[in-house]
This record gives sequence, C-alpha cells and structure tokens, in this order.
Amino acid sequence: MSQTVFYFGEGHAEGDPKRKDLLGGKGAGLAEMTALGLPVPAGVTLSTEVCNALNKASKSVKDDPALQKVILEALARVEKAQGAKLGDAANPLLVSVRSGARASMPGMMDTILNLGMNDAVAEGLAKKTESPRFAYDAYRRFISMYSDVALGVKREAFEHALEAARDAVAKTKGIDTTRLNGEELRRKVPDSDLPVEELRKIVLAYKAVVKRETGKDFPTDPREQLWGAVDAVFHSWKNHRAVVYRRMNDIPDDWGTACTIQSMVFGNLGDTSATGVAFTRNPSTGEKALYGEWLPNAQGEDVVAGIRTPNALSARGAEGADKETSLEVKMPEVYKAFVDLAETLEKHFRDSQDIEFTVQTGKLYILQCRSAKRTGRAAVRTAVEMVKEGLITKEEAILRVDPAAIDQLLHPTLDPTAPKRLLARGLPASPGAAQGHIVFSADEAERRAGQGKPVILVRIETSPEDIHGMKAARGVITARGGMTSHAAVVARGMGKACIAGCSAIHVSYQAQTMAISVYGEDGKPTETVTLKKGDLITIDGSTGSLYEGAVPTVPAGLGAEFVELMAWADEVRTMKVRANADTPLDARTARGFGAEGIGLCRTEHMFFEEERIAAMREMILSDDEASRKKALAKLLPSQREDFVGIFREMHGLPVTIRLLDPPLHEFLPTDERQLEHLSMVMGVSADKLRQRTKDLHEFNPMLGHRGCRLAVTFPEIYEMQVRAILEAAALVSKDGVAVVPEIMIPLAMTKAELVKMRAIVDRVKDDVLGVGNATTPVAFTFGTMIELPRAAIMAGELAEVAEFFSFGTNDLTQATMGLSRDDAGKFLPAYLEAGILPKDPFVSLDQEGVGALVQMAADRGRQTKPNIKLGVCGEHGGDPASIGFFQKVGLSYISCSPFRVATARLAAAQAALRTKASS
Ligand code: PEP
Ligand code: MG
Repeated sequence: MSQTVFYFGEGHAEGDPKRKDLLGGKGAGLAEMTALGLPVPAGVTLSTEVCNALNKASKSVKDDPALQKVILEALARVEKAQGAKLGDAANPLLVSVRSGARASMPGMMDTILNLGMNDAVAEGLAKKTESPRFAYDAYRRFISMYSDVALGVKREAFEHALEAARDAVAKTKGIDTTRLNGEELRRKVPDSDLPVEELRKIVLAYKAVVKRETGKDFPTDPREQLWGAVDAVFHSWKNHRAVVYRRMNDIPDDWGTACTIQSMVFGNLGDTSATGVAFTRNPSTGEKALYGEWLPNAQGEDVVAGIRTPNALSARGAEGADKETSLEVKMPEVYKAFVDLAETLEKHFRDSQDIEFTVQTGKLYILQCRSAKRTGRAAVRTAVEMVKEGLITKEEAILRVDPAAIDQLLHPTLDPTAPKRLLARGLPASPGAAQGHIVFSADEAERRAGQGKPVILVRIETSPEDIHGMKAARGVITARGGMTSHAAVVARGMGKACIAGCSAIHVSYQAQTMAISVYGEDGKPTETVTLKKGDLITIDGSTGSLYEGAVPTVPAGLGAEFVELMAWADEVRTMKVRANADTPLDARTARGFGAEGIGLCRTEHMFFEEERIAAMREMILSDDEASRKKALAKLLPSQREDFVGIFREMHGLPVTIRLLDPPLHEFLPTDERQLEHLSMVMGVSADKLRQRTKDLHEFNPMLGHRGCRLAVTFPEIYEMQVRAILEAAALVSKDGVAVVPEIMIPLAMTKAELVKMRAIVDRVKDDVLGVGNATTPVAFTFGTMIELPRAAIMAGELAEVAEFFSFGTNDLTQATMGLSRDDAGKFLPAYLEAGILPKDPFVSLDQEGVGALVQMAADRGRQTKPNIKLGVCGEHGGDPASIGFFQKVGLSYISCSPFRVATARLAAAQAALRTKASS
C-alpha cells in the first residue's frame, strides 16, 4: 500500500482531491477546499485502502500499532495547526470521526462527534470556553453517540436518563408531565433548557448505562476512543442499510469507505455561534439562488433533527419574522463571507454545491462541501444554465445529468417532504408514483376506475388477460415476477407505475387481502400488516417502494431546459433510438418522446381485444388448415387496420413488426369458470376446450412451441400477418405517406427456419403485390431476432437470409443464463444480496456473458453482410449501462418502451461521448 493517511490543514493538503477512490468524496472535498485556502478545520483522512485491508483481514486498528503510529504522527500536525491537544485537559482538541465513500451514501454509515472527551477534558473545556453547560452537553452527546456506534449500546438505552432530566426541569417550570409522551416532553423541555447540573447527572447516568450494558467502563483514554471510532466507521461500510443502499444505487461493495478525523468546531458556544447547511442552487427547482437553513447556538445535528425549526439563510424572498431571523440580517458579515465562499466553491467545482458550515464565536468554518443532490428537474436546469453561464461545456452538461433523472421529469414523484410509512420494497419495475385503492382483479380495477376511483391493481402476477385492468389502474404491484415479467414490460409500455416481484406481500384473492411482512432497518421482519380491498396505498415504481395510505405526489413536468438538453444530446448521439410500440397510440406517444422508429411491434398484444381473441381462439380450436384459415381471415382486417394506424403515425420512420411469438395456450382461458363461459359463447363443448388446453400444455412453454416454430407447423398464421403488413403498407403509401416496414421473425435458431419463413413472406408478397392487384409495391426488409445462443453463434449463416438482426436480450438472457424470466424473481434477490450477480441481468445486460454473444453475433453477422442493420429491442435497450455496451458493439439503434425513449436518448449521447473520449 502506498500512502494511506493524508493530512489537511492550514492551506495545505497531502491528498490529491482527484483521488476520490482513495480519500472518499468527503476527504477529497476537504483536501480540495483546504488547498483552495478556505477556512477548513484541520484533519486527517485514512484512505479506503485502509478500510478494505482491515475489513478483508477482519482486523481492527487496535491490533495495528504501525497504522496507529502513522495516524498519530498526522494527528500531531492537526494538534499543532489547531493549537490544542487530544486529551490535554488544559487545552483539549476534540475531533469528529466520519465515514465518506467515493459516492455519497447519505446517512448510511456512521459518524462520531466530540471525540476526546473524559471527565478532566470536560472540566478543562468548561473553563476554557467559560461555558460548563456547553462542555457537559458535548460530553453527554459524545457518550451516547460513541456508545451507540462503537460499543453497540443502542441509543434508546440512554433515553431514560435524558427523560428523567427533562422531567426534573419540567417540574421546576411547573409543567405537568404525566400526560406527555417522550416527544411532547422533548418539545416542552428542549435540550437547550437542560442546566449544567442536570447535564452532569446525565453524564454519570450514561456512564452507568454503558457499564451495565457492556460490563466495562466507558473508555477514558482519547486514543482508545479514537481506535474504537475508526473501527466502527470502517465496519459501518458493511452494515445492513449501507449494503441495501449500495445495491439500490449500483455502488460496488469493494470500494470501501474512507475515514476522516477532523478537529471539531462548535456552533453552540453562544449567540455569536451558529451552524447551517446551504445549497448554491435550489435543489428542487435548480433556481440559481443560495438556498439553505441555519440555527444560532446549535450543533449540526440540531438542524437535521427537526426539533428546532431552522431559519432561512437569506433575507431575499423571506418576509416578516423569517426575514428578521435570517443569517443575512442576524450576522451580516458572516453571511457576506459565506456568500463569497459559496460562489468560489461553485466556480471552482463547476457544479452546484451542498455546503455545511459552522460559525464558532463569530468565525466562519466550512465543514463539508459536495456536489448537491438534486431532483431531476434541478439537475437538468442546472446543467443547461451552467452552459449558458460559461461554467461547463454542452458535453459536460450532457454527461452530468443522470439519465434516471429524466424519468423523474416524465412521471409524478412522491413529495419528498410528505411523511410516509414504508411497508415493503419490490423491484422498481416501472417509474412514477401513484396512489389508489387496492383492487385484486382486472375487472374490479376497470369497474372502480370507471366510477372515477383511483385504484392500484395488486396481483400475484399478471397475464395478458389483465391488460384492461392495468390500463384502468393508476399503478400495479405483483408479488412475483422479475423486471421482464409481463407486468413490468406492459406497465413500462403504458408509462404506468409498477412494482414487480414484491415478495413481502402475500395476496389472497379469496379473502381479498394482502398481508405484508414489514421489515426493520436491520433486515428482520417486525410485524405483519394486512390490507384489504379498498384500502389506500401509494407506490413508487422508481424505487419499488410500497407505502401506507395516500402519500402526496408532485406532478410531472418537462421544461424548456429539458428540450434544450435533449437537443444537445441528439447532436452528439450516434445510435438511433426507437420505441417498442404495439398500437397507434403507443406509436404517437413514442414519437412525442423523440423515437426515430419502432424497433419492436409485438403483434400478439393486438389479439387480446374482445372480438379478436374470439377469432384467435377459433383459430386455435380449429381441427384443420381450412378452418384455421377461415378464423385467420377474420383477424386480417383488424390486424391490417392496426398496421395502417401505426404506419401513419410513424410517417416514413422504420417500423419493425415481429410476427406472432407466444405459445398458443396463452390465448386460452386459464380457469374453469372462464372456460365454461367460453364454451357457451363459442358453442364448443367444454370438454373439447379442456382437451385442447391439455394438448397445448407444455412443461417449458418458454422453450416450447413458440416463435417461428408456430409458423413451421401453422404457416397460415404468419401468412395472414405478412399479408396484413404488406396490404397496410400499400394502402398507406398509396396516400403518399412513406412506409418502411421491417418484417421480423422471433426465436429463430437455424438458417433453415429463416429460409422457410422467407418463403412464406415471398409467397404472400407475390400474391399481394402481384399483377392485377391495385396496390403499389412497397419495399420492406426481412430480418430476425437474435434471442437464442445458437442464433448468436450461427449469426454468420443467419445473415445470409436476414437483412437485419434485432437482439432480443430478454430471451437471450433467459436462454444463455438458464434463468426463467417469470420465475427467477424467487431467488435472484438472494443472488444480488450475496453478490453472486452484481445486478439483475434482466435489467442491466450481463455484458461479460450474454454481451459476449451479442458481440459475437454482431461480428459474425457483419462478416457475412458488412452493412447488416443491428439493433436491440430487449428491455436492456432502455438501461443506461447496457446502452453504453451497445454503443461499443456498434449497434445502429436501441429500442425501448416509449416512456424510456427520452432517457435512452440521453444515455446514448453519454455513451457516444464516452466512447469518443476513450478512443
Ligand atoms: C426479447 O426477448 O428480448 C424480446 C424483446 O422479446 P419478448 O420480450 O417479447 O420475448
Ligand atoms: Mg423474446
């Protein structure tokens, strides 16, 4: 290991601020601010390598004298800079010990403040500051925080002593406390009302609690305290909430956290002291105006804890009392200095900053600054405005906005300030927030929605028969299924909030209830909440969270800045972005989001409407080719009409139409009641229906009679579809509208299959466009999906017949990894939890495995046909990380659901810029 301990202070920093990987975001920020000459209290940062080495070896700083020595040497420089010494009663130095990873993980890891306290130091500090109250308040805060974080004594264990003190103070004030709960008592007797005598008693009581809980005395040696604190911070990298947060935010487990030991400054040393947080731009809207809060005579945690209401920073925009209590009015000089600092920081970092500051007896200190967390709206506005201010380039603006932020602009989001109770988490299958009454069936969803009631459809899983209910509902939850399950794919297509695979819910259709196992922060179940039909819930499809009751939402909204940013993105993008769209309405939505074609039209979705499904079922139940053809003829006009509508909407843009893919049994009813109803409507005996369903039953339908295999046995199905496509194309082009149809074959594995399919297409083509037919011939292309490993391997041969490939990465993932798309949800979470797989491979492409097949197919296809058109239409086409991969493979387009098109445009632009930069 190279240097592992880095000093900063007095305008000099040892660490390289660019090495966030070593110093963590916080450590890097402190080094950078120190080097800029800003007033930063001196300190030391231990690198992430120390954390990783100790955690890996299950070792502690306590067992490592060599490491202790280096830390103490650096600490000596801090002591010199601050003119105080750790443990020196006459002139004590107190330090904070904080975590700080490469990526911000707010509140997920541990922090200890006021370290270095013991009885003698507390007395010394009382004298030095002439404020015994302050000294003992800091002491008791330190004991409880340290014990919680480093000694494993829960904070609640200290509540009793604190309440007893509050009670005693309340009595002296004549307040009757018998009816007050803890929270109310805390409001009547805030911490600042506890006199020094009570604080001394609290310190004694706290020490007794530690002795009782741990069997040992609270450590009095500041060095021993320090080693305990450093160990705790490094260990907190592995605590449950940090692990969960990393998983949600794609932060690798092997990054580790840095640990910063920094001299404390105090905002609670009287009326000339203060503490606060500020954003250089409004984090909700992005408006360029200093935005923040402060509290006089307080410590940082008071601002966050919400016990005292903080005051506004600026007088600007504030009125009356708010103006009077602003920092600008109360401490004008400090305010002015802060405004200057904030400006310096923003200019230097060229990004909006989130700054923590403290004023200690009139002197301003900056404790922390980092790129501000912001809403999607603020991210877009800030990026665009910074280009106009000349702070960043257009390319930087494009790279700065997280593509996921675009989702926030397109969908309602939960009001971040609203109180909410989390009940369960599932997969974030389709973004957006929605509230509504629980219903358990698609019919009920439609009925209640028809009465104007907002509903959330809760299902164990959904099937094509539920589409009308999904349409009517505001949002959908399923207990089973992964990110490419029916519910997930369809909800994304509809732009509807959806949580899939929420295994904490147990749905009973019979009882019309859902029982939810609620888990605590430690990952253990705490209770079961049972909700029934009609109860209100809120879902956030962006995070996969299910909340109790109706949590208020903030509406979606695209501004002028969004349009501008997207225009810049389109200029640099090299891959086209198409949409997966099945209906003319989808096509229109997709174009609205800037889609440049349809990459996948799943024709089966068209067959679920009432009259169509009847004809479809008639076709399936036919005993011979002639009756099958008769039934198919009934489907032809509506199928043709769909394509006419889509071609018109797309107006000359390419439209890839995939011929029928799912196994036929999907079109037959699943339960006995529906079967009997169908038998009545169709005039077919229930027995015959039962028999046919039995005949069609397959043990592995996903590997069964589906895709082009259907047309090997029933070519008339594809014949009808090709006819519908070509006739529609002819009709539309006759009206002078350009049409670019691309006929796509699903689930091919051999060249011979494609030859057979091509023959069907040519047969129909000659028929439709032949002599004597009034229509004009329309050019089309013929291609295949690459969805099976064999297809990828044999791509060279397939390209002899196919003019284009579209990677169906959903099936390709399923087939390559042997993971069922519909069932893997049961155990995939365990794989992610254990780190066996880094990400859900149905969300983000497994680049090394499945991606290698994509690369191979692209290479082999190009070898046969150098200009073969290559695209992707699996769900990965909307995933930013996968889009980066597709750029490298050199695909000419990506295709995703309409509501992800804008996100994909930005991600494709980023991918193009990154590839350019690395070449
Ligand atoms: C795929 O398999 O990636 C694909 C797009 O087809 P579907 O999801 O309809 O199987
Ligand atoms: Mg597929």
